[in-house]
Amino acid sequence: TQATLPELLASTCERYPERSAVYFKGMQMDYRTLTERVRRFAAGLRDLGIEKGDRVGLMLPNCPQFPIAYYGILQAGGIVVQITPMAVPAELEHYLGDSGAKAIVVFAPLLPAVEKVSLAANLKKIIVELPPRGDVYSGNTILFEALFGSGELLPSVPLTADDIAVLQYTGGTTGRSKGAMLTHRNLVYNAFQISGILKGAKDKSDEEDQDRILTVIPLFHVYGMTVCMNMGVLDGSQLILLPRFDRDEVLETIRDTKPTLFPGVPTMYVAVNAHPQAADYGLSSIRYCLSGSAPLPVEILKEFTAKTGATIMEGYGLSEASPVTHFNPIDKQKAGSVGKAILNTEAKIVDLQDGMRELPPGEAGELVIRGPQVMSGYWNMPAETEQVLRDGWLYTGDIAYRDEEDYYYIVDRKKDMIIAGGFNIYPREVEEVLYQHPAVMEAVVIGVPDAYLGESVKAVVVLKPDASLTTEDLIAYCRENMAAYKVPRIVEFRDALPKTAVGKILRRTLREQELANAA
Ligand code: ATP
Repeated sequence: TQATLPELLASTCERYPERSAVYFKGMQMDYRTLTERVRRFAAGLRDLGIEKGDRVGLMLPNCPQFPIAYYGILQAGGIVVQITPMAVPAELEHYLGDSGAKAIVVFAPLLPAVEKVSLAANLKKIIVELPPRGDVYSGNTILFEALFGSGELLPSVPLTADDIAVLQYTGGTTGRSKGAMLTHRNLVYNAFQISGILKGAKDKSDEEDQDRILTVIPLFHVYGMTVCMNMGVLDGSQLILLPRFDRDEVLETIRDTKPTLFPGVPTMYVAVNAHPQAADYGLSSIRYCLSGSAPLPVEILKEFTAKTGATIMEGYGLSEASPVTHFNPIDKQKAGSVGKAILNTEAKIVDLQDGMRELPPGEAGELVIRGPQVMSGYWNMPAETEQVLRDGWLYTGDIAYRDEEDYYYIVDRKKDMIIAGGFNIYPREVEEVLYQHPAVMEAVVIGVPDAYLGESVKAVVVLKPDASLTTEDLIAYCRENMAAYKVPRIVEFRDALPKTAVGKILRRTLREQELANAA
């Protein structure tokens, strides 16, 4: 794997020029067209003055322009700075300022927000995906389509596998958001690693046998970038793009387009479970539904399989590792486990305190990882890099243990652990029990300040449609199913939980609301 990402695309285009690469709202684009647009877009960027190593922001929801811009920036020699379209102005300024981006590709409705910070962020060019409303834009703004017009298709920029391809900013739940530097090698390798696993059960030599990937997790998130886009391009799959998760729209798309792979996150499966007719949409025809990015409660997995006949394969990863490091073996998955370390990836569990002593099966400690998909460091942040990359090992900040067969189990994040009255409580453990209650649809457990215990356990719960439950009943249920110190002292019922763009439950927001209420 000395290949770069643009080389992956070129090689797929050579093999399958006519295959449909992208499906979006009834429109299709084949690999030849995609590759041609990428080439023109890259030429256009170079006309704008983008040179090797220049950072270019990419702030788009899932749409056909996304892969064009992504591979186009790379082909021009640039570094893609992934920016969530949900970024608030201060975050946007941080991403642009920290990365030193010269240009940005932006979703039209967000143009005003970008223009506002462009001076401070020293942006030279703003490329807008569609004409903005009213067609008014400032001097340094240019239309996406205009880049295709560049007459000169200059020779391609020499790239190596060790060049940085992407700055993937972390969620920033602790302190400033950091840009994980992912090289072409990191990303190409990870695409190969996942593709190898998913191919396992299937003979892909048959040209007709093209995978269709339901791409509803955002491509600006590391999971969608690798598992949908880069892996899809590697295999010549079709990306079925959806810009947002709307349960009914997703189910209809599954029924109408018959995807073969569905990379999702737990909250999506929770939503599907809550649909009374989920079984009618043909989910069982999907080869694999995948889950990652947050723990998949065992109860959700069971219910999903019972309702739809489809299986969910769970994996694990993080931005700093491109992201995937663990995945359940296709032929032998264990519910509740994130599976084994994938090809050419080493993992071990080390003592939480000293970070060195390796722990035996069954004992929980910090999960550390070494492999070709691990980032080279954080952009501009040597001190933070030193903390997480030690002797080539990536310290994940996740608490986990492994079993005798080397399957790994994520207990929780170090920073989410609750310490109540001197006891360590892992929210996930309490959540697993809450999910078993027949009236509970979604649940999240956080620590809230407590004058006596230091912290105490609070559960925020969304009930299933038409279900009813009192705080007393839920607490009584918890008493029967967990040690007394873990039982939530406070229960709050809500209609919905705050979530990130990829669908993770936002604990940080819930904690902040708690603090604000307490003040
Ligand atoms: P930050 O770490 O800065 O808060 P983030 O959540 O956006 O930001 P990501 O790199 O997207 O960071 O997520 C990686 C984290 O997601 C892992 O460290 C782990 O805590 C969690 N995670 C991913 N997959 C799983 C899984 N299958 N089970 C449990 N947790 C998971």
